[in-house]
Amino acid sequence: MSHLFYQGRTRKPVLAQARGVYMWDEGGKRYLDGSSGAMVCNIGHSNEAVLEAMRRQMEKSTFGYRLHFETEASERLAARTVEKTPVGLNKVFFVSGGSEAVESAMKLARQHAIATGREQRWKVISRSPSYHGCTLGALAVTGYATLTQPFAPMMREMPKIPAPRAYLDGLDPTDPATGDHYADMLEDCIAREGAASVLAFLMEPVGGASTGALVPPTGYMKRIRQICDRHDIILIMDEVMTGAGRTGAFLGADHWGVTPDIVVLSKGFAAGYAPLGAIVASDAIVDPVLDAGGFAHGFTYAGNPLACAAGHAVLEEIDRLGLIKNAARMGDRLRARLDGLMERHEIIGDVRGKGLLLAFEFMADRVSKRPLPKEYDAYLRFVEIAYEKGLIVYARRTRDGVEGDHILVCPPLTVTNTHLDEIIEVLDQSLQQFT
Ligand code: PLP
Repeated sequence: MSHLFYQGRTRKPVLAQARGVYMWDEGGKRYLDGSSGAMVCNIGHSNEAVLEAMRRQMEKSTFGYRLHFETEASERLAARTVEKTPVGLNKVFFVSGGSEAVESAMKLARQHAIATGREQRWKVISRSPSYHGCTLGALAVTGYATLTQPFAPMMREMPKIPAPRAYLDGLDPTDPATGDHYADMLEDCIAREGAASVLAFLMEPVGGASTGALVPPTGYMKRIRQICDRHDIILIMDEVMTGAGRTGAFLGADHWGVTPDIVVLSKGFAAGYAPLGAIVASDAIVDPVLDAGGFAHGFTYAGNPLACAAGHAVLEEIDRLGLIKNAARMGDRLRARLDGLMERHEIIGDVRGKGLLLAFEFMADRVSKRPLPKEYDAYLRFVEIAYEKGLIVYARRTRDGVEGDHILVCPPLTVTNTHLDEIIEVLDQSLQQFT
C-alpha cells in the first residue's frame, strides 16, 4: 500500500535506476526517456561529473541560510549563468523550481514599479494557451482553463492574449505580416487595459506543454520587444522549459536576438539533479529595488549550495559535451524523422518545434485541422501505448477548450543517432497500434 498521492489513483512502476537516456523499473524493464522526464533531464541521468560535484559540495556544506551566508556554489553558478545569458542580464536570484521562479519574476517586476514611482502598474499580461506553473500567482498568468478554473475565486486573473497559432488560423508563419498580426494583439490588449496599469508581459519563447512546441512566427519576438519598450512594460521570458540549451541555443529568445528584462529558468538548469530555478534580471530592474530597501521575497531553500553545485556542474557538462550544438543537430534530424512519420500516419496533422523541443499533433482531418474527439483521450492513450513499449513521451491537450492532442518528443540533449532510431521505431509501432 502506498501513502503517496499525485494526480490520480494509478500507481506507476517504481524507478530502480537511470543512466544516460535510459531508466529501469524495479522489475527490470528498460525505458528510453524520450521526454527527459518533463523536459528536465537535459544532460541525461547519472552524469558522473555532476554526481562528483554534488558529493564534493555535500562534504563542505549542504545548507547555508541566505540571510546568514553566501556560498561559493551559489556565487559560481550566478557568475556562470550571467555569462550564458544576454549582455546586460547580470543579477541572479535562486529558487527551487519553475513556479517559484515565475512568482519571483512577477514580484520583482512589481517591486521595481513601486521603487520607480509607478505604483499603479500591476497587471501582468500573458498568453493563452500557456503554462507558467501551479502556484496561485503563476496560475493567474497561465492560460489553460482546465487547470485555472477551479481556483478562479481564489486568485486575481490577469489579462491574456492569444498565443500565435498560425497553423490553425491558416496563416503563413514565415510571413512577417503574421508575426505583426499576433504581436499587435499585445498592443490592443495594452490599449484596452490602459498602459499605465500594465506592469509586464510574460511569455514562453517556444511553447512547452501548453501549445506543444509552437514556434513564434517571423517578426513576432522583435515586435513584442518593441511594444514592451514603447509602453515601458517589463518583458519576462519564461525559459523554464526552453532554457539551458533545449532549443539549440542557451535561451529560446536567443534565436531571435531578443533580450528580455527578466529571464525565468528551471528544469534543464539543474537537469533534474536537484530542485533549482532562477531569475536573471538587468541592473536596471534590480538596482532600484535594492536601493529602496531590498527584494521583499525569498524562499528558505533559495541558493541552496547543493542545488547550486549541481546546477554549476550541469552548465559545465553542457559546455564540455557540446550539448547545445547537439540539440540543434539532433533536433533537425529528429524533426525530419517525425515529418517522415507524418507522411506514413494520417493521424499526425502537424509536426513542429525547435532544437530538441519537438512535438506532433493528432488531427482527425489535416485539411480542416479538426481535432480528434475528446472522448478518444488520444494523448493519454498514446502515452500509455508507447510506455508499454518502453518509450516515455509527454503529452497534453493542445487546444484548451477545443480538444486537440499533442505528443512532445524531447529526449536528453545527449541523444545519439542510435537513440533516434529507437525512438522512431517505437513511435511508428505505437502509431500503428493506436490507429
Ligand atoms: N513555466 C513553464 C514554461 C513550464 O513548462 C513549467 C513546468 O512545466 C513551469 C513554469 C512550472 O515549473 P515547476 O513545475 O518546476 O514549478
